[in-house]
Amino acid sequence: MIIEVPTSSDFMTASLNSLNLAWSIIIQLHFELKNAKVSDWDSDGDVTDEYWQKSQAPLGNALILVQQGFELSLKSRIAAVSPYLLLSKDLRDWPASDKKDISFSDFRTIDSADLIKLHNSISADQLEPAFIERFDLIRKRRNQIIHHGKDRRPIQITELLEAILTCVARLAPSTRWMKQRSEYKNSDHFSVAYSSDHVSDELCSEAAAVIDLLGAAKLNFFFGFDKKARRYYCPSCARYSEADPYRTAHLRPNSSKSRTLFCMACDEIHEIQRQACAHPECKSNVISMDGTCLTCWDDQ
Ligand SMILES: [Zn+2]
Ligand SMILES: [Zn+2]
Repeated sequence: MIIEVPTSSDFMTASLNSLNLAWSIIIQLHFELKNAKVSDWDSDGDVTDEYWQKSQAPLGNALILVQQGFELSLKSRIAAVSPYLLLSKDLRDWPASDKKDISFSDFRTIDSADLIKLHNSISADQLEPAFIERFDLIRKRRNQIIHHGKDRRPIQITELLEAILTCVARLAPSTRWMKQRSEYKNSDHFSVAYSSDHVSDELCSEAAAVIDLLGAAKLNFFFGFDKKARRYYCPSCARYSEADPYRTAHLRPNSSKSRTLFCMACDEIHEIQRQACAHPECKSNVISMDGTCLTCWDDQ
């Protein structure tokens, strides 16, 4: 009998872990360059180019994790129908049946290249050509790294961030990515060893980085965030920020009468009150419910 059969949710947990780890690698590389303030003196961009050249190995690892995330998410959806569909159909690939119980992990599973075909054969929700193309591209680039040591063309951080967000939006649509980041970081090894006090601050800087890196259409599609809207401090996130808080929120709806603010970092809607800020140099009238100006952070 086949024992230790993984469930759809086991595959999804593993997928989200891979995607989270890839995201952390990518964001960390972005932060290191920013914290070193290289752009202040690297006017011709040579050092920045060299930095990304030297970052290709960790970015290659991130790409492998992204491919793994796609693969595990597809397996999760197939396993929701039946995990046994994932086993190789060729009996010659099966382990010897001289034992009473055989673990699922001892069986050969179908090749990554066949996952889309299997998925679309059994699911009413057909994956569309653009998604299939993206999955194939990531899979081929991953194979290039595994079999030839590195990818033929440089890996860009924005394409990896977009690949992660596409995978989640299409294969795990109930997952809200910033909530997922919060959950992941609140229970990771750092939070166990120290505390999770740093998480809110880190999520704000992640959100600020993603706002800078992605275009308006992608931000709207993946996060419902309006890149062109005026930005405010989040009454919740900015309160827990240790350093300079980031402006990660905008009015939603984006109008002069609006009384609600959407924050990308915490992915929440916050009520606000409309009253003129008491600071003489601030013209804002967007104030938190407990009386802090969300433009200059002055207590009223
Ligand atoms: Zn917030
Ligand atoms: Zn103010």
